Amino acid sequence: MRQPSIMLLLLLPLLFSAPSTSTPRDFDFFYFVLQWPGSFCDTKKSCCYPATGKPTADFSIHGLWPNYADGSYPSNCDRQNAYDASQIADLMESLRSHWPSLACPSDDESTFWKHEWQKHGTCSESVLDQHAYFGAALRLRAQINLLQALQDAGIKPDGGLYSSADISSAIRNSTGFEPKLGCNADGGGNRQLYEVSMCVDAKGERLIECPVSSISNCPSRVEFPQF
Ligand code: AMP
Repeated sequence: MRQPSIMLLLLLPLLFSAPSTSTPRDFDFFYFVLQWPGSFCDTKKSCCYPATGKPTADFSIHGLWPNYADGSYPSNCDRQNAYDASQIADLMESLRSHWPSLACPSDDESTFWKHEWQKHGTCSESVLDQHAYFGAALRLRAQINLLQALQDAGIKPDGGLYSSADISSAIRNSTGFEPKLGCNADGGGNRQLYEVSMCVDAKGERLIECPVSSISNCPSRVEFPQF
């Protein structure tokens, strides 16, 4: 008779200290994820240009993703904090240039930004509000010129095959930090350079060495398609 009540007493503080909502714990760093548009489009899936036309042939932003040092990450943290275009009106031109959507149909340019804010941005809102979040991503993009770094190493988006190790070392030489490469498959099943993720401090300001080991899904040689 006495044992259940002692257990209950022991559990009570735990029960009352447990968060009633899924409030995320503080994240440790961001992945800043850049994408090669040619690889997004060069798959069996469809790709549509925004109403403003074909984006420049350069790496564009996929997202700024809060992450935990154990490799896991929070998502969709605050459904009340909806994407609000009016808060980032002054950033729209830059977002169109550096964070274009290539999804189909290209009816609403902000669908991609809204998705990224809701899934990832709301998990870092204790540090970056909506304007600061998109502003941080744009500032990081301005700091990192991946295409130049690769071209300086003779790696060009010409549909050729390049060594993944050479791609990584060109980016490390230019930025000072090790990238994490992500690959997808073109329409014929060949693996191609799709994304480059760089680790960023939890303020969204500076590149850092990744706190977690970066396992790439790229083979030793990858295609770098045209766009
Ligand atoms: P995430 O949920 O942040 O991991 O992002 C994955 C989603 O973003 C998928 O639905 C992708 O189709 C979409 N996505 C990735 N790149 C683009 C892009 N350039 N334009 C539009 N949607 C994209």
